[in-house]
Formats: sequence, C-alpha cells, structure tokens
Amino acid sequence: MAYNLIKRFMLTSAIAFCLIYPVLCPALNSITFMDKPYIYLQDAAKELGMTMSKSSEYCSLRNSTAYISFQYDKKFATINGVKISLLYPPSLKSGAPIISQKDYYNVILPILNSKTLKKQIIKTIVIDPGHGGNDNGTSGSYSKEKNIVLSISRKVANILSSSGYKVVMTRNSNKFIPLDTRAAVIDKYNGDLFVSIHCNSAKKSISGYETFVLAPQGTSSTYSTKEVNKYENGNRWDKNNERLGFEIQKALKITNSIDRGLKHARFSVLKNATKPAALVETGFLSNPGEEKLLNTPSYQDKVAKAIASGIISYAKAAANGN
Ligand SMILES: [Zn+2]
Repeated sequence: MAYNLIKRFMLTSAIAFCLIYPVLCPALNSITFMDKPYIYLQDAAKELGMTMSKSSEYCSLRNSTAYISFQYDKKFATINGVKISLLYPPSLKSGAPIISQKDYYNVILPILNSKTLKKQIIKTIVIDPGHGGNDNGTSGSYSKEKNIVLSISRKVANILSSSGYKVVMTRNSNKFIPLDTRAAVIDKYNGDLFVSIHCNSAKKSISGYETFVLAPQGTSSTYSTKEVNKYENGNRWDKNNERLGFEIQKALKITNSIDRGLKHARFSVLKNATKPAALVETGFLSNPGEEKLLNTPSYQDKVAKAIASGIISYAKAAANGN
C-alpha cells in the first residue's frame, strides 16, 4: 500500500517536473508525418498519466480529471466535452495514433496544465465591444451587432468590476474605433488581457457560439490551409491565448446553444494584442431564433456571465503559471 503510494507520488512528481521544465526532460519521441513533427499519443498519455483507448475512427485519453477525444484525420477534438480546433489533424501511423507536436505543446498542455502557462496576475481587463458608429457589424432582421455587443460587454464589465478587477472598455458608446486603436488600449491602460465581443452571420440555419485565438506562428487558421510564418505580437502568448479561449468557450456551455468550438484565426485585434487575447462570437444574428435570444436581456446576462466566468477561470489558471 505505502509502496504503491510512494510509487504514484514519484510518478506524479516526475510528470509535473517534466511539464514545468520540459527542457530538462527527454522529449517525447518525435516522428515525421506529412512533413511535420508528430508524437505517438501513447507516449503523450504516459507523460500525462492518462489511459489511451482507440477504435478505428477515434482515440481518447482519460484520467480522473480529463477526457480528450480525437478523430483521425479531422482537425476538431474535444477536451472535457468542449470542442477545440487542432492545428493539424491527428492520424494513425502503422496503426498507432499520432498527434502533431505543436498541438501537444501549444494546444493540449496549456489547456490541461496551468504550469505550462506564462505566469500572470490579472488586474486590468480590456473588454472590446466590436464595431460601433458607422460600422454596424452584421445585422439581423431587426437588430445590429454593434448595439448587442455593447450591451453584453457592459454586463461583462459590471460582473468583472464587482469581482474586483479593473475593467477598461475600448468603447462605451456608439462610437467607431479603428481596429489598430483597439489593441493599443492594452498598453495605454496597462491591461493584462483583452477580450473582443462580436455576433456572427452565416446562412439562416447556422447557430451557436465560438471563440477565436491567434493561430501560432507557422500554422494556418482553422478555416484556411495557408500556413503563415510571420511572428505577431500576440504569438508571445500562444499558450495563454489557448487557455483563455478554452475557458471562455467552456463557460459558454451554460447558454445551451451549440458549441462551435475554440478556433484559430489571424484577426487584426488578436495579432496586435500585446497580452493574452480572445475574440468571442456570441451567436448568429442571421439565425432568427438566435437573433431573438441575443436581443433578450436575460440571455445577454447569461452570455455575459459565461464570458466573465471564463475570464476569471483563466485568471486563476494564469496565477499558477511559471
Ligand atoms: Zn463583428
């Protein structure tokens, strides 16, 4: 009994040590797949103290606190029921499940383990209601994005202020703000993180919420195949961005709307952000049902509560970083 406990303690400590100081630990065996460095999911499972199971289509990793499900040759996976976009599709090599090294270190680990984040003590939060003034953003059959996102943003700001954070809004009226001025607010007010709030548009049948973070250097956005090598300001925070986006996407489950996933993009505000940043698409004004919800104060409260609690969960995780 005692021996087993000691063994378990030593194994857990070794895993924690390697996650904190990966340079000092032997890296997971790297293989090349589609010209990219990949690792075996079985090795990742071992390092994470998780059990791997696989079928002909799926592979999953599980322990007492986390469940990750991958589908071969598909970019989307789920972590604890939250949909996330990977940078490259996982696959099978001679029957063994594999995942790209970048996905393991830049997407999976930051979500699972706060020790892999850059440490941050969050005091000032910048909330960015999209569009404004002459820029309506998207429009539904009777409402405009710029008005809805301002209303939701004010609610987010109120919750965060009453939780003890200092909040700066990039706009607090129906005013046009150029894109490059928005991210600049972070440095101007000594902000610690940046969250931009928007509404979406597509064909009528589509609904749901999604959160975007900056695509890491050298990777493509979720909806593109073009790999971009330029290093942006926002890339300094790749791991923290991922965790911030994940916490917001996870918290939005309380809306009972469709989880469209945490995704990667190269939006201007994300590229220029000098601190961790995420852009939330709260729902589709092109979907009549969702337009109605997004104009309902109680639903706006729900969305705002989710965004604020996602931000607070991130703040707690980042305080544990290194
Ligand atoms: Zn927008």
